[in-house]
Amino acid sequence: MSKFWSPIVSRLTPYTPGEQPKIANLVKLNTNENPYGPSPRAVEAIRREIGDSLRLYPNPDAEPLKIAIAKRHELQGITTREVFVGNGSDEVLAHAFQALLKHGAPILFPDITYSFYPTYAGLYEVDYKATPLADDFTIRADDYLGHGEAIGGIIFPNPNAPTGCLMPLAGIERILQGNPGRVVIVDEAYIDFGGETAIPLVARYPNLLVVQTLSKSRSLAGLRVGFAVGHADLIDALERVKNSFNSYPLDRPAIAGATAAIEDEAYFLRTCQAVITSREKLVAQLSELGFEVLPSAANFVFARHAQHDAAKLAAGLRADGIIVRHFSHARINQFLRITIGTDVACQTLVDALKKQL
Ligand code: PMP
Repeated sequence: MSKFWSPIVSRLTPYTPGEQPKIANLVKLNTNENPYGPSPRAVEAIRREIGDSLRLYPNPDAEPLKIAIAKRHELQGITTREVFVGNGSDEVLAHAFQALLKHGAPILFPDITYSFYPTYAGLYEVDYKATPLADDFTIRADDYLGHGEAIGGIIFPNPNAPTGCLMPLAGIERILQGNPGRVVIVDEAYIDFGGETAIPLVARYPNLLVVQTLSKSRSLAGLRVGFAVGHADLIDALERVKNSFNSYPLDRPAIAGATAAIEDEAYFLRTCQAVITSREKLVAQLSELGFEVLPSAANFVFARHAQHDAAKLAAGLRADGIIVRHFSHARINQFLRITIGTDVACQTLVDALKKQL
């Protein structure tokens, strides 16, 4: 590491993204992408934006997108003042951590969760405490209650990653009620595959920030668009951070494509339902093969086999041209995280597993 930069940089533990292999004919079930592709209306809107208009800076507030998101939640009292957008939900989350910059009290998140949280905490010098998951791998709402001033904020995905386990809205509300003095960030990257969003709670809880992405249920991982919904004061602070960083978070094609994707509700509902149906089929097949599959409300499943080592299974699948995700954390290193693909892709996976068992 160059001595010319801050010593903090050499102590960072950067996030390692899932593998994006170059070989086209691999069955890629490792990074929770949507198998169905984005709404044709989104693709068309992106195409229209690519041309002479790229000379011009984009709308600095990504206004059309904020309007589309607010409209979708207008019955819950959401206006554009309660919406923040960013370059992927990773950037939205980064801005939230920046807004907690050098916060005196540590923030709390599960010990098994999205591994970008400790990375951001390191980058923005936010202390944190990691709370173990329950024995059944769920996040226990009670673990986030009763800390008082000892904690400075809470963040967790719902459903959690990489387990796929969902916390019911009642649990989220208990956490919000028990923590009126600190921000509670609910990362809903996978909420559209069977979970219930906490956005309706925003009107009643000024400490709630709900973060969503267009990478999964809208199949736009390559476009990099995410957003947050929360009280106007929380959003205001994020805008302040954003404008101190990059006043144009989204480019013109991203604003156009994301807006069209949000507006195409019918395509969204149809493709989410297709993923859910494939997931339930895959869960049944894996269970029949002797896997224990955690209850998933996401577009992936987390499964282990009592008689077969997960790392070996993953290597065997890889040899057959199928990539799934395996984590080395001791408590979950016997699990495979498998993204829900098309029914054909899922069947290819099941057939390959059968050969190994
Ligand atoms: N949160 C969770 C829990 C995730 O798994 C992911 C995807 N890796 C993200 C946020 C970030 O998604 P994106 O930046 O593509 O919106």
